[in-house]
Amino acid sequence: MQSLGSIRRSFAPWTDPQAKPYIVFDNVTKRFGDFTAVDNLSLSIYEREFFALLGASGCGKSTLLRMLAGFEEPTSGRILIDGQDLRGTPPYKRPVNMMFQSYALFPHMTVEKNIAFGLKQEGMPADQIEARVTEMLKLVKLEQFAKRKPHQLSGGQRQRVALARSVAKRPKVLLLDEPLGALDKKLREETQFELMDLQQSLGLTFVVVTHDQEEAMTMADRIAILDKGQVMQVATPAEIYEAPGSRFVANFVGNVNLFEGEVVAREENGARIRGATGAEIRVENAGAAAAGNSVVFAIRPEKIRVSSRRPDESRLNAMEGEVYDIAYLGDMTIYHVKLADGQVVKASALNSSRVTEDPLTWDDRAWISFQPDAGVVLTQ
Ligand code: ATP
Repeated sequence: MQSLGSIRRSFAPWTDPQAKPYIVFDNVTKRFGDFTAVDNLSLSIYEREFFALLGASGCGKSTLLRMLAGFEEPTSGRILIDGQDLRGTPPYKRPVNMMFQSYALFPHMTVEKNIAFGLKQEGMPADQIEARVTEMLKLVKLEQFAKRKPHQLSGGQRQRVALARSVAKRPKVLLLDEPLGALDKKLREETQFELMDLQQSLGLTFVVVTHDQEEAMTMADRIAILDKGQVMQVATPAEIYEAPGSRFVANFVGNVNLFEGEVVAREENGARIRGATGAEIRVENAGAAAAGNSVVFAIRPEKIRVSSRRPDESRLNAMEGEVYDIAYLGDMTIYHVKLADGQVVKASALNSSRVTEDPLTWDDRAWISFQPDAGVVLTQ
């Protein structure tokens, strides 16, 4: 799995045992009354990392961010930045700045005044403020909008003003709570790339909270998947997708097929798994699963081939079923194939040519097949 992390770029301090994390959550718990929002959570984030906290609504991700910013204190545990315990340090004395979901721009102030606001409060001399605001306007490509007020801007432009304002004070860490939540899909996608460029060019550490998995996958160096105040997995987007550590993570990120079964035997480079109907699957990524263990084999739809005839390659796992449903999405087609035991398997095929060589339609007999290394065995 080592090569997976390097798809994005070579930045991977978490693989270096000598590298010191910059932000550390050390056994942090946060309770509101008798409700535990963050449950004994530990997490390390490195300098210049683009780190995403991903989870469903209520999993505790904003609470983590608010504790890092200093708006909440942990009930127990420690939060450290650069080796310093932050307990008792007020928000304005922390090397972090937070960009809120609502942007919270001052409606009566122009774009440049909004950006300058924090710098003025800090007592920065006027000429330096002017230079910094000019630099920030250029950075977010809003030079010609300097004199406008927020209501005279589009949603995407307002988002960029908020971003410029949050980085104007040059915080070492920028915390972003659903930064693109107010933008439509197209603009969101464009802005994701702008955010990544900005983070890299400023050399900042970004911690972003999102419930949008695609957004986290696109932008982050690493993602922490959270559930009920606990970390389920921390890994690069590619690892999370290709090597999820649990059923929960496999299900949470992207589409997945799960085959329940039991390990019949370990083999040199994998295992044989027997499913409910007695059909056997040969797998390569079997982890620590031992013979007799109940396991789940997780495989993504794009790793499964659908064909009208039985595939003849001998190394392939193949099962017969019937086309139950077809969704044509333009760039790809998704087939739902019902197997003999009733399980419906999702398989997606890229429509790389306009004519399909092996047309399949509803109720046709069909074979699904996949390579032994196309999925992973999960024991939890
Ligand atoms: P969302 O995506 O909906 O913002 P989230 O993962 O960011 O969700 P949090 O805002 O961290 O979730 O909240 C986690 C849990 O803690 C929720 O169940 C929430 O109701 C609870 N909670 C948060 N703040 C408080 C508070 N001040 N008092 C009581 N409960 C709170």
